[in-house]
Amino acid sequence: KEAKGSLLYLDGVSVAFDGFKAINNLSMVLKPGEMRAIIGPNGAGKTTMMDIITGKTRPDSGYVIFDGEIDLTQHDETDIAAMGVGRKFQKPTVFESHTVWDNLELALNRKRGVFSTLFYKTTGKDREQIDEILETIRLIARRDELAANLSHGQKQWLEIGMLLAQEPKLMLVDEPVAGMTDSETDETAKLLREIAKTRSVVVVEHDMGFVRNLDVKVTVLAEGSVLAEGSLDHVSANEKVIENYLGR
Ligand code: ADP
Repeated sequence: KEAKGSLLYLDGVSVAFDGFKAINNLSMVLKPGEMRAIIGPNGAGKTTMMDIITGKTRPDSGYVIFDGEIDLTQHDETDIAAMGVGRKFQKPTVFESHTVWDNLELALNRKRGVFSTLFYKTTGKDREQIDEILETIRLIARRDELAANLSHGQKQWLEIGMLLAQEPKLMLVDEPVAGMTDSETDETAKLLREIAKTRSVVVVEHDMGFVRNLDVKVTVLAEGSVLAEGSLDHVSANEKVIENYLGR
């Protein structure tokens, strides 16, 4: 009942690996159209939390309710992706020998379950959609460039674009600015804020300058549970948070 009206509702989620509780009674609510930053020291459970949401890891207990009604713990990774949960891993995995445009076209066709462009003709509407994505990811001028020739940051943006082509309702993004230049990092904050106007986004990130730029509610994880939640200023004034970061 409480899950109603939320996009993502984690309630009492726990998972143990060989008796070690990586996620321990974790609860979190994300509203439709909300962007959230997840921070926390190494080993806090951030990756495991993403793995649980995407169905890669099944929790031992608790609920993960998507879109107010679907319990994701009862579905597998493929189903969950098809329901509109997209994930971007830290390392970009774009097709280097293809152009920026072709990468996006492939991503669009992948959503349709078409594995070869031989069997599907890209329509004018598809091209419009790709152009829109190119604008969003700041790569319109590089559409015909081979992905191999992009900077590390631009490859990250291209991969975000490939995720957008699949039109997820919820986008999970793992350390998007790792290895980026300062200006790429600033641009990424802007870009994600634009993306979050039309969908919910969860960003796991270590770069506090970037998190500050995102200007969103922050959830601090430690030892598999929520330690604090609120604005970055609010959580960074929290004694427990300070102890947890400085104590390591
Ligand atoms: P974070 O992403 O915040 O650094 P993780 O979710 O990767 O944290 O890990 C949380 C804890 O769970 C760590 O102590 C890690 O060693 C442990 N862990 C994660 N996955 C596994 C696994 N498959 N088997 C055993 N332990 C794991």
